[in-house]
Amino acid sequence: MAETKTAQMIYLFEEGNKDMKDLLGGKGANLAEMTRMNFPVPPGFTITTEVCREYYRLGKRFPDTLKDDILEKIKILETKMGKQFGGSDNPLLLSVRSGAKFSMPGMMDTILNLGLNSQTIEGMIKRTGNPRFVLESYRRFIHMYSDVVLGIPKKRFEELLTAKKAKYGFKEDSQLTPEALTELIGEYKALVKKESGKDFPEDVREQLLSAIEAVFASWNNDRAIIYRDKEGISHDLGTAVNIQSMVFGNLGDNSGTGVAFTRNASTGENVITGDYLVNAQGEDVVAGVRTPLKISALKDQYPDLYAKFSELAKQLEKHYADLQDLEFTVEDGKLYLLQTRSAKRTAQAAVTIARDLVKEGLISKEEAVMRMNPDQIDQLLHPYFSPEAKAQVLKDGKLLAKGTPASPGAACGKAVFTAEEAIREAAHGNVVLVRPETTPDDAGGMLAAKGILTATGGPTSHAALVARGWGIPCVVGCEAVSIDEEKGEFKIGNRVFPAGTVISIDGGTGEVIEGSVDLIYPSDLPEAAKEILSWADEMRVLGVYANADNPKDAHRARALGAKGIGLCRTEHMFMGAERLPMVQKMILSAGEAERLKRAVDRLESEAKDKKGMIQELLEKTRKELETPWKEYMENLAALKVLQKEDFRGILKEMEGYWVIIRLLDPPLHEFLPPYDELLVEIERMKLTGGDPVKLAEKEKLLEKVKSMKEFNPMLGLRVCRLGIVFPEIFKMQVKAILEAACELKAQGVDVKPEIMIPGVGHIEEMKYNRTMVDAMAKEVFDEKGMSVVYKVGTMIELPRACTIAGKLSKVAQFFSFGTNDLTQTTYGYSRDDASKSFIPVYLEKGILEVDPFQVLDREGVGRLMEMAVKEGREANPQLEVGICGEHGGEPNSIAFCHHLGLDYVSCSPYRVPIARLAAAQSALREKSAKEYSNK
Ligand code: ADP
Ligand code: MG
Ligand code: MG
Repeated sequence: MAETKTAQMIYLFEEGNKDMKDLLGGKGANLAEMTRMNFPVPPGFTITTEVCREYYRLGKRFPDTLKDDILEKIKILETKMGKQFGGSDNPLLLSVRSGAKFSMPGMMDTILNLGLNSQTIEGMIKRTGNPRFVLESYRRFIHMYSDVVLGIPKKRFEELLTAKKAKYGFKEDSQLTPEALTELIGEYKALVKKESGKDFPEDVREQLLSAIEAVFASWNNDRAIIYRDKEGISHDLGTAVNIQSMVFGNLGDNSGTGVAFTRNASTGENVITGDYLVNAQGEDVVAGVRTPLKISALKDQYPDLYAKFSELAKQLEKHYADLQDLEFTVEDGKLYLLQTRSAKRTAQAAVTIARDLVKEGLISKEEAVMRMNPDQIDQLLHPYFSPEAKAQVLKDGKLLAKGTPASPGAACGKAVFTAEEAIREAAHGNVVLVRPETTPDDAGGMLAAKGILTATGGPTSHAALVARGWGIPCVVGCEAVSIDEEKGEFKIGNRVFPAGTVISIDGGTGEVIEGSVDLIYPSDLPEAAKEILSWADEMRVLGVYANADNPKDAHRARALGAKGIGLCRTEHMFMGAERLPMVQKMILSAGEAERLKRAVDRLESEAKDKKGMIQELLEKTRKELETPWKEYMENLAALKVLQKEDFRGILKEMEGYWVIIRLLDPPLHEFLPPYDELLVEIERMKLTGGDPVKLAEKEKLLEKVKSMKEFNPMLGLRVCRLGIVFPEIFKMQVKAILEAACELKAQGVDVKPEIMIPGVGHIEEMKYNRTMVDAMAKEVFDEKGMSVVYKVGTMIELPRACTIAGKLSKVAQFFSFGTNDLTQTTYGYSRDDASKSFIPVYLEKGILEVDPFQVLDREGVGRLMEMAVKEGREANPQLEVGICGEHGGEPNSIAFCHHLGLDYVSCSPYRVPIARLAAAQSALREKSAKEYSNK
């Protein structure tokens, strides 16, 4: 038989290093690294992720030689520790820990104290003289092992534990006496026998192998799958398994366990923070079963130990050049490190720490920019309570309690008690998930909730960690809260509330408030974020503009770093309550006026050399035109006054920057009441005998609406087509823009208007409108005796526009991709219909990987864009090209725009910081890819 040389399946900690995360998982790689650094890490080894993948490939079987390999490594551990696995004299106990490439806190399983059985406990009791400790460890082991390996719900064991404590009147687990523990262990074992039909395994090898297998299996438990889906982690990676000798934090009051961050993971402040539990084992802290002490308590109790710990912590932080999240245990006064990883942190902490690490010389500015996550930047603009509203509710005595702030941001919603309820109720409105503590099983519900409130646990509990990672406001350790799921109510202090009561929480202060409180969406970024973004600005090539329709939004956009307006829509300006009647009157006369005007123009050209009948007809038509034209012009003139004000405001706000104003885009009937509504109203008026003049007016309006009804408004009389059928409307807008610009310029304001013609598909459409704009400009400039620099361009939102880009760019000075419509017209999907009906199904069935209305479709829409950019610029090297669809604020799409070499992206004001960051990251990625390929 041919020898097949298999890859190394197991690595001792001393054989690995931090760069081996693919193979050893994050936990294993970092345990290896710390071991290499001579940090106090209990010895152990890691079974690789490749073995896990092989396990699944083999249909959930171990590779042939794995067992022997494991036992060999156990021998090495035995020698190192001077203990025997399963030995009755000085037994070696192990932890079996999962650990994938990407940290998935608490999502997979870990088993502690493995190797205990009725023999080894005897040996340990003899050796330690501490039966309480040994029995307690055994109890924990049975509990964890039965849950993870045998699949017996841990709740069953918790019930027995609670009953036992009640029987003896104990409050804490650590108070259990050896007698009580012995009883409890008996009960646990009986439960195992009853549930599994077998005795709890005595054979330590069987314990170990089954535990390893269970860890492999935990890769595919529901909560791990949900978590990976949410975080976009591949399901194929598999987990490594770390097998490590145990150290004991539950040996007595001289022992304990804790979790710490090398800086504050909420605020970013440079002080070690964390939780510590005396006389406890690791997962107690994370599980939040007891409310821990602050790490500073350790400082008071054991100053030397704390000093040592903080030194190691800082060393690790420096080594990894990042905020670390550490697990440690103190066994009888001796410190051990059990895990380190880059810590999850709030957006606030992320920017502060990245900025500070640059200042401390630990990372470069580029590194800091690359480390920022666009979603985190988004979170910095998350809601908080309006100070007035909050002051009021506090005055009204609505403050119910205060817990530990664990993830900033404010939230209001109905209180729900379970993850399932959260998911169900979130469909009908905001919910706040209220739990004693959360476990990884609650992930789905946590994600659905606007906020999370727990009764126990500290800032490193599961709830806190997950909420921070996902940017969900969270308050933990609010001990005033107790929940009675059965009765469907919760108590805060001595007040009782039914489920569904609206509460508000402030994850930045820990406050829990009765009722809802007004939220404010911040308009400014923290200083650290501004600083990092200012570095990003220097690294990016893409410009960042904003879409803003009014001076207020423009102001906000500018404050957030926008260097121009990429899209100012004018239709919203038509919607105001005092304007709509004017707009409607204008529309009522527009059709007839423009039709008669066209007739007059036609007749005039024909009448030039003819007399008689044509002349007569011309005169007659001119007469007919008079009234509707007058009405049309009067209303347009009134509108112009208002529009000019709008444009003046926004141009002034954006002084020094280009402002792209789009001429009217929607079909005119959008400004009229819907047909059905009018019909009903008229019927009612007839029945109740309403005012006949009004009735006649309504009937006329109905006629109008009926005549303007379209089968497919999206593809109907709108965009530049509107400007060709109703040129007076576009003319009015152009004049309003340029008059405002001239007047501002006269006052010394630096104005830069750009006029955008929407929806061009044919070159003549562009030519017609360009000629019109230039003619209007001439008129305005002549009248004002001055001029301003302006540009005329088009919004590219039809595939045909892309195909004629080379012609278009000779007439249009700029292109702006309107990728919302361009996606609709390229795919032939109507967005609103699609997102209601088939897109969700497409995503579910994997027909589409992502929604093309959210992430730009590179191979379809993107290809058209690419063609338009290339041919447009070839014909006109001065052509300015940008994007103003919603994709302009989406990081993946921004990367594509960078790749296409657009001049700028334009997005909603709140997304401007995200775009600045994403643009810089795209540039940096390209640079490093180039450097890489040059090597
Ligand atoms: P998770 O990935 O869920 O954090 P871990 O494998 O880190 O799971 O372990 C859970 C808890 O058990 C942690 O608090 C850890 O510190 C503790 N623990 C793990 N291994 C040991 C060990 N060898 N000795 C003592 N405590 C341990
Ligand atoms: Mg851990
Ligand atoms: Mg459009």
